[in-house]
Amino acid sequence: NFDRTPLIAGNWKMNMDHVQGITLLQKLAWTLSDARHDFSRVEVAVFPPFTDLRGVQTLVQGDKLKLAYGGQDLSAQDSGAYTGDISGAFLNKLGCAYVLVGHSERREIHQESDELLNSKVKAAYRNEVTPVLCAGEGLEIRQAGTHVEHTLAQVRAGVAGLTAEQAATLVIAYEPVWAIGTGEVAGPEDAQEMCAAIRAELVELFDAETAAKTRLLYGGSVKANNVGAIMAERDVDGVLVGGASLDAGEFANIARFES
Ligand code: PEP
Repeated sequence: NFDRTPLIAGNWKMNMDHVQGITLLQKLAWTLSDARHDFSRVEVAVFPPFTDLRGVQTLVQGDKLKLAYGGQDLSAQDSGAYTGDISGAFLNKLGCAYVLVGHSERREIHQESDELLNSKVKAAYRNEVTPVLCAGEGLEIRQAGTHVEHTLAQVRAGVAGLTAEQAATLVIAYEPVWAIGTGEVAGPEDAQEMCAAIRAELVELFDAETAAKTRLLYGGSVKANNVGAIMAERDVDGVLVGGASLDAGEFANIARFES
């Protein structure tokens, strides 16, 4: 897919305490190194719970692992009286390359609005952490046939006010909510339809050169046995994996989608 390095991202959600997280990460690192995974060709990132990040940093730095990692959310603010929130500055200091913004579980369970998520995207850039902006429609919207409009509206709101330079480094994950954790995977052509629509929208909002650089991921019940077909689509530059990222062998096989 042009010169966009594929990104295979694992969202652990609220699974794996800091002890379990280290075990999982060690297994993943061993499996990928046994398979001689070429990280310069296919980037791998994990998104553990906040409480795991310090341990992940220690392991990654100590063993010089080429794995990237990030937070599952961040505050729109950088510091202050925001009890329970985590600042992008803290994530940066822990070596996080990425942060998820607007995962459907945040949008639904925490009622995070498009406006708030746009502030979080900006907070991520302000702190030099690359946001992975998640967007996607629920089942009713899919059935009504307005999924493209719906998802593009989320994307437009999320990227409002960004510079072209920022948009070029942005990662956008298309995650149809009906396919998350359900075992129901969108067809590769559904992933391509949406990623192509998002890229076309980025051309309108920014320019063609920028849109050609933005990485677009698909997420929703990705497994080792369906990742190949999804990654073969021209506008799909990676996958965001939930459930299957908790199994080191399975996730490593997803990262090795080409073999
Ligand atoms: C996700 O949580 O981003 C996700 C895609 O989950 P799953 O792979 O389990 O559907």
